[in-house]
Amino acid sequence: MSPATTLAEKTAYAELDAERLHDWRKRDKAHWAELRKGRIVETRIRFTRSVPGEVHIWNALKQAETPEEVRAAYAMSKYWFNPKWHGRVYVTRIYEHAGLVIKAKNDSRYPRSDRPSSDDKRLEFFSVVMAGLTEERSPLTAVDLLRKYEHSDECYCRRCYDSRQREFFSLIDL
Ligand SMILES: [Zn+2]
Repeated sequence: MSPATTLAEKTAYAELDAERLHDWRKRDKAHWAELRKGRIVETRIRFTRSVPGEVHIWNALKQAETPEEVRAAYAMSKYWFNPKWHGRVYVTRIYEHAGLVIKAKNDSRYPRSDRPSSDDKRLEFFSVVMAGLTEERSPLTAVDLLRKYEHSDECYCRRCYDSRQREFFSLIDL
């Protein structure tokens, strides 16, 4: 069965969801346009300082071994997995496709090491899983696509963005 047939369920809810997704993508495009103009730095700092990290949700997600445990972690979240919080529709994908999240976690590409840097890699892994589900692709296809992606100065992924931020702050420290 192809990923598309696994994910696409033509219910009334799915159609409504597709509409919300379309709307979200439009807003997301506008958001990235703002980001490229350099207006995002302030927003990032404000968000990271005022919103609780919900580490217990993150830990529960990492420990989850069944779709039910993924949904339980999801349901506990007040902020990051709450679709009503800032209307981030894509977070519902984790709940709807908890089985695919577990499948991705069981894959050899899921970072399992105990090193602190592995937790960053796991965060990135879950982001890619969520991005794949948002784009109605299988999470592992998304993981593969991103591994093959060629980064450039135009790239706004976390790694490229952070490295440019570090470069910027090292320059103004002089
Ligand atoms: Zn990049």
